[in-house]
Parts: sequence; C-alpha cells; structure tokens
Amino acid sequence: MKEFGFELRVCAWAERHWPPGDDDGDGVALVARQLGTRRRRWDTVVVETTRAALDRRAPFGEERLDSDLLHVVRNAPAAWTYYREALPDPGYPWRYVREAVHRAADRGVVETRKRAGRIELRRRVRYPDWVDRVVAVENKPDLDASAARALAEQLEHDVALGLADEVWLATRATDTDAGVEPALLEAMPVEAGILVVSASDGGRRAETVWNPRALDAEAPGTRILERPDDGRSAARFEYADPGWKRRKRLEVAERAYERGWRAYAETMRTDCRHFRLVDPGGPFPRCAAKDREQTAAECSGDCPAFEPEPPTWRTRGWPLEGGPGAAAERLLARRRRRRR
Ligand code: SF4
Repeated sequence: MKEFGFELRVCAWAERHWPPGDDDGDGVALVARQLGTRRRRWDTVVVETTRAALDRRAPFGEERLDSDLLHVVRNAPAAWTYYREALPDPGYPWRYVREAVHRAADRGVVETRKRAGRIELRRRVRYPDWVDRVVAVENKPDLDASAARALAEQLEHDVALGLADEVWLATRATDTDAGVEPALLEAMPVEAGILVVSASDGGRRAETVWNPRALDAEAPGTRILERPDDGRSAARFEYADPGWKRRKRLEVAERAYERGWRAYAETMRTDCRHFRLVDPGGPFPRCAAKDREQTAAECSGDCPAFEPEPPTWRTRGWPLEGGPGAAAERLLARRRRRRR
C-alpha cells in the first residue's frame, strides 16, 4: 500500500479510536494530515479535545484563525480599549494587527469603533482554551533499514523540540505477524510511541507496541539544525522558546480544526468520471480506470486517464449543484463538519 493510502487509514483509525487503548474516554480526536511548521510537516496530527471545548470554539467559525487573528482574539479586552494598548506588541508592523482587528470584527468575534481617530476594540466572545494535547504521528507503512534510519532522525528532532505532546511512528501490520522487525523499532528514540496499524481492513485495528513518553511542550525546546555524522564536527542547535511553541501548537490545532483529514479530496480530481469514494469507514478515494486506490499526486490534471464527467451526469438524477464529483466533495465536507 502506498504511503498516501496508509496515511488515510491511520487518520480514519485515529478518528475512531484515539487515544490507543482507551475506548471509554469522553475525549474527541480531531485528525488532520500534513500539518506542522515551515521546517517540519507531520504526516498525521491528532488534536485531543472535548465536545464541550469544541462547542466553545464553534462561535469563531469553521475557518481557522491564523496567527494574526489569534493574536487579536486571545488578547481582546472585555472593555473598549485602543487596540495598540489592548494588544501586546506583535513584533511586526501594527498595520497588520489593524487589518486582523477588522477581520476579527468581520467574523463577529470582536467589536470595533472609532474614537478620536483611534480604533478601539472589545471582545464579543472569549477565545477558549480548547486544545488539550497535540500529537504528531509519522507514517511509514513499509519500514526497511534506510527508512527506519531517516525516521529515527526525524523523530529525534521532534523529541528534542517538544512541539508536540507526544510523537508516534505508525507502521503497517503484514499478514504474517506483527510485521515489524524489532531491530528497526529499536533504532527509534525511546520517547516515540510505535503503533502497528492493519491497513487491509480500512484501518480498523491497531496495536501499540511501544508506549511514548510525554514530551514537555511547555518547556524550552531544542531545534537540531545540523548533526554531522563524521563523529568529529559538533552538532548545531538552536533554542525554541516556550511562547513560540505555544503559538505554533495553536496554529497547527486551528488548521486541523479547519481541514480535518478528508480535505484530501480538494487536491484530487473529483470531477473525473473515474473518481469514486469507497468504504464508509473513510471514505477513501478509488480510481475506476486504474481499478485501485490512486494517490493524490497521480489524481491530477496531468493524469493521462483523466476524463471529465459527462455534462449529462450533472443534469440527470444528480442534485442541481453538480455531478457525482461535487456530491463526493459535499459528502466529505459534511463528515468533516460532523467531527467538529
Ligand atoms: S483517471 Fe486519473 S484523474 Fe481520474 S480518478 Fe483516476 S487517477 Fe484520478
């Protein structure tokens, strides 16, 4: 199975069963793909939260709050105040803050008024503390020695930085046994958890073979910039301050909230006549022309087998809004909303 398909199975499993081994908790797992920072993108991100916290987040809208908007809503005062006095110095030009204040007002979460030529604001809704933990999962369905080496290094970086509360490696179970060579797993940092996911049944089963250690997301982190393997040169490190980590985690959580993992369809050709959605447990994409699951990369305008939906599909038997491709996108968007 290709990494893309495996990643979708891991997401589907995590949405239903996170955290591993605790099927009775009242937590909610918001799962998304390919999120992180400019330097590091995680395959799967799990934002642990609760239904009550999500209800408090809901008034801020389905779209994410970007870093500028977060700066405004997290610091917006209860009483009218000149915005430059109410909000901490952002470290970038105030005009961007002013724009963000207006955007926050457009979303109905702050109010603004002009007094003596100055823009004042006050909050309408308090931005809630809605994120319990952010967990990063690296997916590698076929773990061989060289993949294990590269992964171990990536996970060491994640552990040193401590941006996520936990890091995991998810790999694939094979038909023969647990399917993973112990020697390969031993190469992983002990702080990283290891999950073996059965991808063949739509990602419905997974087994924890190593429990992770909680990382201190509130403490300063270490960014490993370079680690030469010649044994002589010194590694280069950089300090990551807790404030930066806190902001980044929230930005990642906000993006996960907006996108969910089913946003994969946005980059695929759902308007191709061969595009299908299969397995209600996902749903997952499938290409009827190739008679297999296609990756997001191959399901593009460059695909030699691409054929647009015939116009008649869009008029007969399908809702007015479009043909089966548009209906597939609506289905995925509905599923995403239901999670929130
Ligand atoms: S034929 Fe190509 S574009 Fe169409 S669904 Fe299959 S992979 Fe996607």
